[in-house]
Amino acid sequence: MKVFMFHNVGEPPKNARLKSLYVKPEKFKRWLNLLNRLNFRFVKPQELEPTGKGVLLTFDDAYRDFLENAFPVIKALKAHAIVFVPAKLVGQFNRWDYRKVNAIKPIMNWEELSFLVKEGVEIGSHTLTHPFLTKIPPPEARREIEDSKKLLEDKLGVEVKSFCYPYGDHNREVVEMVKKAGYQYAFTTIKGTYAQSPSKWEIRRIYASGYWTTLRFLWECLK
Ligand SMILES: [Zn+2]
Repeated sequence: MKVFMFHNVGEPPKNARLKSLYVKPEKFKRWLNLLNRLNFRFVKPQELEPTGKGVLLTFDDAYRDFLENAFPVIKALKAHAIVFVPAKLVGQFNRWDYRKVNAIKPIMNWEELSFLVKEGVEIGSHTLTHPFLTKIPPPEARREIEDSKKLLEDKLGVEVKSFCYPYGDHNREVVEMVKKAGYQYAFTTIKGTYAQSPSKWEIRRIYASGYWTTLRFLWECLK
């Protein structure tokens, strides 16, 4: 099985950099409908297995375009999805990279996240402020990992089981902190299948690029 990593589902703003982060809405719909027709299952983390025709959809950074463009498609197919939220930036924007990507991208607010929870979308933690976890002092990293879980659980009233390392940045110490905080799954940006992942706290993913054709996406699912 494979885990796909999405960021934005929407049209990139004209002057945005890193446009591969944006999968256009029609394309996203085409991709998911195709998987559905080919009998792929959209699985939850607890259903991940080394083999089988399952795909887990993950969305980093909790951008509002998830609600507008991705969620309707996911709902129509009764698919599962995880949205990774930088908990201190709820209702704000991508403060950590808006200069680099030259785009201010709104992050969903608590009401919108609560709506998604009601609709069965899984909420995961993406820390509090989206730092490089190996580059800040360990006590600060621990706070980012533990307090984000607590904040999301308090505000949304559900258990937060999944974690996603910002920038994919992790080392042994950080992985231990994530385990100790009570997360059951954690996702990296290292390319690979679930079978190739060293543990449930270092799950590899495939970056779904907005530049891909449908054929390329299909190839990534099947190979
Ligand atoms: Zn991120």
